[in-house]
Amino acid sequence: MRRNYLLTPGPTPLPPYARKALAREIIHHRTPQFQEILKEAHENLKYVFQTKNDVYILTSSGTGAMEAAVSNTVCPGDRVVVIEGGKFGERWTELCKVFGANIELVKVEWGNAVDPAIIKDILDKDKTIKAVFATHCETSTGVATNIRTLGNIIKDTPAIFVVDAISSLGAVEIKTDDWSIDMLVSGSQKGLMLPPGLAFISVSAKAGNIIDACKNPRYYFDLRLAKKAWAKTDTPFTPGISTIIALSEVLKQMRKETLDVIFSRNKKFAEAVKKTMVALGLELYAPSASSDSITPVKVPTGIDGVKLVKVMRDKYGVAIAEGQAQLKGKIFRIAHMGYIREKDLTVCIKILEKVLSDMGYKFKRGIGVKTLKKLLG
Ligand SMILES: *Cc1c(COP(=O)(O)O)cnc(C)c1O
Repeated sequence: MRRNYLLTPGPTPLPPYARKALAREIIHHRTPQFQEILKEAHENLKYVFQTKNDVYILTSSGTGAMEAAVSNTVCPGDRVVVIEGGKFGERWTELCKVFGANIELVKVEWGNAVDPAIIKDILDKDKTIKAVFATHCETSTGVATNIRTLGNIIKDTPAIFVVDAISSLGAVEIKTDDWSIDMLVSGSQKGLMLPPGLAFISVSAKAGNIIDACKNPRYYFDLRLAKKAWAKTDTPFTPGISTIIALSEVLKQMRKETLDVIFSRNKKFAEAVKKTMVALGLELYAPSASSDSITPVKVPTGIDGVKLVKVMRDKYGVAIAEGQAQLKGKIFRIAHMGYIREKDLTVCIKILEKVLSDMGYKFKRGIGVKTLKKLLG
């Protein structure tokens, strides 16, 4: 079978040790054997989250943890701030609407990062704000939000800080405790190199108080149940056993490699891919604000962006992501996180050059691969 190259911002390729773990025979979850694995995964999750808080493992895609963050804290009529600069910021808005929040919506033009002074101003004026929702890497635009600065602003207010780090945890620096993040949510299929199906959420003491006082009806995603079960190294419902076993292997490897090494590799990849795009005469979509998880690139004039992505995937087995919503056909996105390595990037650039050339885009053939190889050494 032809190898498929996956350079999408989720799912990302599975490393061999994850695939091996996934192929193991299943075990029962209410056993000392599974508890051992759960305990180790939990300890290493705390390392990746850079937190002393509990991190709960939910069996759902990342959005389940987003819903848990909202359903356990936001009651009808509560004042919340949502920072919305793309598709995933919109998901916070939609969730907050569903749970009846009174939303102060901070709309950020797609491709830009929020100005933290705006958030400070809102929180200074309104002491009833209960939570601020942000997206670390806004995957639809590739923009990175300045979480550290926002955390500093929010920490001395009554509000909790809730951050979607689904496409950044394990890929770029994010420090839950140092940056005063009360609830950090993530998922298994991006920086953590696993199949989709697990979600993670950390809960600070400040958030814990709000969760306990919250009167919302909730069941599967009731974080009080998660907490109670966790005290006995357990989960309230049948967990994604096989994926958790693989998670434990992945986290062990990540800890062995260290976050610093992982983050600097992704940074090197991000910088190399950006320079390669420029060498190809292409324009970056969010040059000053983009995250090291993913590089968004403008589709050149006269080229059909949807077709470009489709041909790369269906004819050559190289999957990159197209633009979402209003950016459909206008940008494409190349991920460089998780188990994506030099070889994947080189093949991706080679095929991108081939398809662009076939579609009539004029550039110096080979300059992309040459630039990338020079930068990756
Ligand atoms: C992928 C992604 C999500 C959605 O996660 P699912 O696992 O598909 O539920 C949410 N937020 C961001 C920033 C993402 O990149």
